[in-house]
Amino acid sequence: MAARVRALETILTQKGLIDPLAIDAIVETYETKVGPRNGAKVVAKAWSDPEFSEWLKRDATAAIASLGFTGRQGEHMQAVFNTADTHNLVVCTLCSCYPWSVLGLPPVWYKSPPYRSKAVIDPRGVLAEFDLFLPESTKIRVWDSTSELRYLVVPLRPEGSDGLGEEQLVNLVTRNSMIGTGLALTPVRK
Ligand code: FE
Repeated sequence: MAARVRALETILTQKGLIDPLAIDAIVETYETKVGPRNGAKVVAKAWSDPEFSEWLKRDATAAIASLGFTGRQGEHMQAVFNTADTHNLVVCTLCSCYPWSVLGLPPVWYKSPPYRSKAVIDPRGVLAEFDLFLPESTKIRVWDSTSELRYLVVPLRPEGSDGLGEEQLVNLVTRNSMIGTGLALTPVRK
């Protein structure tokens, strides 16, 4: 794969269709500047600010853009909220569509055929592989991403986080909790 990418990049550069420096800048941006911390800020704000939470439910694209997170692979967003009885899980069964603007680049497993097929056939089994065991009574809803629509899971605000401000809440929001293969972290009591 790496050799094919290199060959393709060489040909496109020779034909003058791409500028390698521009490609490097894009890759560098998504590797170092855009990452799951953006999404964590969205979730922390939704937990702290009911009005923002409503907006996020109604029009995730606009609510997320208001925090400055826009761009490629984040043009049309939908936020799916976990509740006491429903857990949401995101997959792209066709390829690897992922909300880059809020989560950065997808983890390798997200693009793997086993995850993509098993997430829809046996979501509970997939969650078990991530050491996530939900009560049998919890409904698992699977969302299949497309190039037009990307999903962000808003995990449940963890118990014991009542007194925390947005800045501290951000640290409880893991990448996997925003894909649905994990939960938000429980704050450590001091
Ligand atoms: Fe895809």
